[in-house]
Amino acid sequence: MATISIRDITKSYGKTEVIHGVSLDVADGEFIVIVGPSGCGKSTLLRMVAGLERITGGTIDIGGRVVNELEPRERDIAMVFQNYALYPHMSVFDNMAYGLKIAGQSKAEIKARVDKAAAMLQLEPFLDRKPRALSGGQRQRVAMGRALVRQPSVFLFDEPLSNLDAKLRVQMRLEIKQMQRSVGTTALYVTHDQVEPRPGAPALRVPVRRAAVQSRRQAARADAP
Ligand code: ADP
Ligand code: ADP
Repeated sequence: MATISIRDITKSYGKTEVIHGVSLDVADGEFIVIVGPSGCGKSTLLRMVAGLERITGGTIDIGGRVVNELEPRERDIAMVFQNYALYPHMSVFDNMAYGLKIAGQSKAEIKARVDKAAAMLQLEPFLDRKPRALSGGQRQRVAMGRALVRQPSVFLFDEPLSNLDAKLRVQMRLEIKQMQRSVGTTALYVTHDQVEPRPGAPALRVPVRRAAVQSRRQAARADAP
C-alpha cells in the first residue's frame, strides 16, 4: 500500500494547458473517485500518476517517492484502461500471467496468483479462452485480474466501465470496490459518470469520496469542435 500525494500539478501539450493546479492526497488503502466531464484532463492526470506522461509542473509522490524520478519497473502501479487493452492472441490465463512472467515470478507463484484472482473475479471457467470469446463484462474482469495479480501498491482505473451497459456497470462498480477493499490497495478511479450513489444503498457505495478535478480547459483548444 502507499499514499499518493499530488501537489499543484500542471500539464501542457505545447502551448495548451490541459491541467492547472490540481492537488490531491490519497491515504493508504483509500479509494478516491474523481468525476469530471470528458476532456477535462482525468486520463492525463492518471497517466501522470502512472508515470506514463511527463509532468509540466508540480510533483506526484507515491509512498514518498517522486514518480517522475522512478524507472518504469520501480513503479509499483497497475492501471485498468477503458478499452481493457487485453492481448488478443493470449488466453485469459496468459493475459493475467504476462506481467508476472516479465517480472520473473516462478511458474508456481504465477499459477497461484492467477487462480486466486480468477476465483475472486469468477473467471475460472474462462481461463483457456481468448478475449474475443468473452462478453464485455468478462473482458473487464480479466483487465482487473491482470492488475490484481501484480499485487501493486496502487490501482489506477481509467473509466473501466464505460463500455458496459448500465446494469452491468452498477454490478461491476460494486465488484471493483469489493476487490479493492479485500486487497486494501490504494486506488484512484476516474470517470465522467455522474450518477450519484443512492444514500444507504450498499450496491452503489463505490464512489466513497469525490474530489473535483480542478483542471480547466484552455478556451482555444486545438480539438475544440
Ligand atoms: P479526460 O480523460 O478527462 O476525458 P484527457 O486527459 O484525455 O481528458 O484529455 C484532456 C485534454 O488534453 C483534452 O482536451 C485532450 O484533447 C488533450 N490531450 C490529451 N492528450 C493529448 C496529447 N497527446 N496531445 C495534445 N492534447 C492532448
Ligand atoms: P455481450 O453481449 O456481453 O458482448 P457475448 O454475446 O459476446 O456477450 O457473449 C455472451 C456469452 O457467450 C458470454 O458468456 C461469452 O463468454 C460466451 N461466448 C462468446 N463467444 C464465445 C465463443 N466463441 N465460445 C464460447 N463462448 C462464447
